[in-house]
Order: sequence, then structure tokens, then C-alpha cells
Amino acid sequence: MPAAALSPEVLAKYEPVIGLEVHVQLLTATKAFCGCANHFGSAPNTNICPVCLGLPGALPVLNAKAVEFATLASLAIHCEVRERSIFARKNYFYPDLPKGYQISQFDRPIAEHGWIEVPTAEGTCKRIGITRLHMEEDAGKSLHDGFADSATRTYLDLNRCGTPLAEIVSEPDIRTPDEAFEYLTRLKEILLYCGVSDCNMEEGSLRCDANVSVRLKGAPKFGTKVEIKNVNSFRFVRAALEYEIERQIEALESGGRVTQESRLWNANEGRTYSMRSKEQAHDYRYFPEPDLPPLIVSAEFLAATKEKLPELPEARRARMIAEYDITARDAATLTATREFADRFEAAARASRNPRRVANVLLSEVGGRLKALGLEQEQSPVSMAGIVLAADLLDEGKLSSKQLKQLFDVCFERGEDFSAVYNRERPEQITDASALEVLIDQIVAANPKQAEQYRTGKKTLAGFFVGQVMRATKGQANPALLNELVVKKLEG
Ligand SMILES: [Zn+2]
Repeated sequence: MPAAALSPEVLAKYEPVIGLEVHVQLLTATKAFCGCANHFGSAPNTNICPVCLGLPGALPVLNAKAVEFATLASLAIHCEVRERSIFARKNYFYPDLPKGYQISQFDRPIAEHGWIEVPTAEGTCKRIGITRLHMEEDAGKSLHDGFADSATRTYLDLNRCGTPLAEIVSEPDIRTPDEAFEYLTRLKEILLYCGVSDCNMEEGSLRCDANVSVRLKGAPKFGTKVEIKNVNSFRFVRAALEYEIERQIEALESGGRVTQESRLWNANEGRTYSMRSKEQAHDYRYFPEPDLPPLIVSAEFLAATKEKLPELPEARRARMIAEYDITARDAATLTATREFADRFEAAARASRNPRRVANVLLSEVGGRLKALGLEQEQSPVSMAGIVLAADLLDEGKLSSKQLKQLFDVCFERGEDFSAVYNRERPEQITDASALEVLIDQIVAANPKQAEQYRTGKKTLAGFFVGQVMRATKGQANPALLNELVVKKLEG
């Protein structure tokens, strides 16, 4: 057990070295080498055929869509795509792998030498190298529980056999658990934007193994690495790395050594457990797959795939900040998914003022959804409703207080904004003389603030506007009110 007792001074002597291996299932309609449905959740052993079961004489045929998705993902993470890559057999026995081998890629993967950028704690960007992206097929699943006789038997579901995977291996460039978390978050976001995977960790369509070692700072060589297998959330990856880094430092500090092995993360106990000693790569007896020709990615195919590459999240955020004059923080929230960003942009372009659309969407609607624990799709207010609200606010036809009241009604009754607005049509005081009377009273009641305004503290205009707004229960026309307040104070 790593003691919490490791002092910051001891921890600071060491540098963690982290590399991540991510498996993503590609979102093709059919499997990698046969026509079986690639579908999660079917009845066990229904999406299978002689090819994905590896029955004698069955021959694999490569799914072109899987190649397209792997190429698209490779381009999105800045990899060089190899014109000629080779499928290889990775031999091992496991009950959920009836063929006795996995079709994978070994020394000639489809893509290499990529990178993605992650934000650092200092507010800068760090580039994490990507060693390779290779294509392979998934194995089936052993079901160890959920049956009456699960204590004595294991069941097999082979539906997953032959599901196309991309394995993305990072360089050992990651230095902290937080960087690992950011890398995974960015990578997932990019893959989702490309539409090549649903990246659903609960269903196993994105899985992560983490390699971690520690060394004394400045030491030329890496320490002995430990592989943490199959962690099923990014938060757990971060927690497992934090635990493992301390465990390794403690072992070294107490004069011991780190054993090269695979370990499993136990989220309930918050610790890792030794699983088995790490097999060496040569144990898999890789050799070129005799049933598949080399994979050729032609220049034409590559160019056509590049055309399909969407605008990626980082670039999109930068453009949206410039185009709509929104904050970096708002841009990050608005680009959380490609679909959400698309909806925002459609709304922004239909409105008078995109920045107001962002504010209404994130603060008024987003805030209420969050308070109620609802998702964006469950919002009673449509994007058209948000555009209408933002425009009314922008034209000064609604005060922000009135807007809040209307949104309260939308959420209480589950109605869209236009319905509520058309019914309630909040009164507005647009009579200048009536407002001037109120302004005179409030300025007279606050001589100190009025004097400060006149001696240069112009932001105090907002104070008087707020006071009059309160006196009118939010019904003063905001544009008119602003104008009259300034006129009175200046005069
Ligand atoms: Zn099949």
C-alpha cells in the first residue's frame, strides 16, 4: 500500500512516465472481415458466422468502411498514413477467441507518428506524440456472472468477435495523471467529431490501458513499467495512475524494486492489484496474415478521406471565439459535442447577436437544466425559442429580469419560449416621462453615487439602471432606461 505518508519532497524527486493505449470499436454496420452485424446488445451468439468464429476454410474479407474510419481517425490525430500496411496474426489462446489468434497489425501499421495537443496546468499547450494507430479485430466476451450456475461455469458470447478496432498508442510523453486525463478527453472528443466510434465506455467501445513507470528526475533511462489494464472511465485512469505512481515511488524509496507486470484497478478499494506477469511481445508469434493481401491506401483514397475530415474541436473553438465574440469557456461548453456545436451555430447565424444566444443558451437554459439534472435534449425550450429570446433581449423589448421570469414559466410548465412569450407578452414601460419621474426620485435618494458618477465613475450608471428596474419590477424598456439615466446624470 502506498502510504499517504510520502512527503511532497520525496514525491518531487521522481518523474512519472506515462503512455496510453486506447482501443476504440469502429462504428461500421458490419464486422471487420465478414458481413455479420456489428451491433452491441444483440442476443448472445446471434451475430456470428464461420468467418468470425474462425471455422476451418473460412476466409476473411476486409471491410472498406473500417479502413476509411481508421484512415479518418489517423488523419485527425496527425498521423502519417502508410500506403502499404500488413495484417498479422497475433497468436494466443483464450476461450473467447475461438480462432486462436487475432488479426492485427504488427510492424507495418496503417498509420504512425501523430500527435494531439493537451492543455496544461500552466495554461499552455503540450503536444503528446502518438506512436501508431493500427487496425485489429476484437475478441468475444466471457460472461463470468449473471447466471444461476455462474459460480461453477463461464459462458461465452462471441458476438463481439471480429468487431473492427483501432488501437491508438501514445508515446511515453505524458508526465502527470492530469495530462493522461486530458489526453483521453481530447482523443475521445476528436474520435466523436470524426464519427468513427461512439466511444461508449460502458459498452466497451472505448477501452484504455495505461503504462506507467517512475524515475529519479534527470535519470537517463525509464524505470520499470507497469501496465494498468482495462480501466473503464477516464476518472479511474487518473486515480489508478495517482495510486500506482505513489506505490512505485514507495517501493523504490524503501530499497525495493518495481516488477514489470499487469495490474487491475479496483475502484471500490481505490488500489491496483497484480494480475499476471507481462507477456513479452514475442510470445504472440506474430506473422503476416496469409489470408489477407497487404492493405493499400492509395493517394486517391487518402485524398477522398481527407475531404471527409470534419472541422476538429480545437480549430472549431478558435474559430467560434473569433466569429461570435464568445469567451473561451463558452466555446468549450458549446463544442462539447459536434451536434451541440452545430445547433448553436445554426441558432447563432439566425440571430441578431450570437453572443447573446450563447449567454441565453448556457446561462438561462443551461443553468436551469443543470439545476434540474436534465440533458439538453430534455429542454422544453427549443433553439428557435432561444433565438427569439436573445433577439428580444437584444432589441430591448425584454429586460433580463422579464426574460428570467418567462424562462421560469417555460420550465415550470414544460412549454417552449415562443408559446409563453406570446401568451404573457410582458408589459414594458416605454413612456419616457414616467421613467424620468422614477429616475429623478432615485437620483435624489442617492446623492453620493450621483456625485461619484459626475466625478468620473461612469460604471455607476448601472447602479441607477438597476434601481429603476427594481422599482418597475423589471418592466422598464432597458434601452430607453439606459439612455434616460445617462442623460439625467450627465445633465
Ligand atoms: Zn461473422
